Amino acid sequence: MKYEEEYLKTGGVFCPFCKSPDIEGRAVDIVGSEAVQEVSCVRCNAAWRDTYKLHAVDTLDEPSK
Ligand SMILES: [Zn+2]
Repeated sequence: MKYEEEYLKTGGVFCPFCKSPDIEGRAVDIVGSEAVQEVSCVRCNAAWRDTYKLHAVDTLDEPSK
């Protein structure tokens, strides 16, 4: 299995290269309907980028009349 598939299947909680759970995410950068976050592994020093896509919206406050 390609490391990307396994990483996505497990929810991105382990380093995709050495499988360590000791990973650190930097600030989330939102661009349009996508968000990207640089993540690195404390154990093996690999770095990658997680990409999130907007998938839902919930109403918190109805518009005032
Ligand atoms: Zn690693």
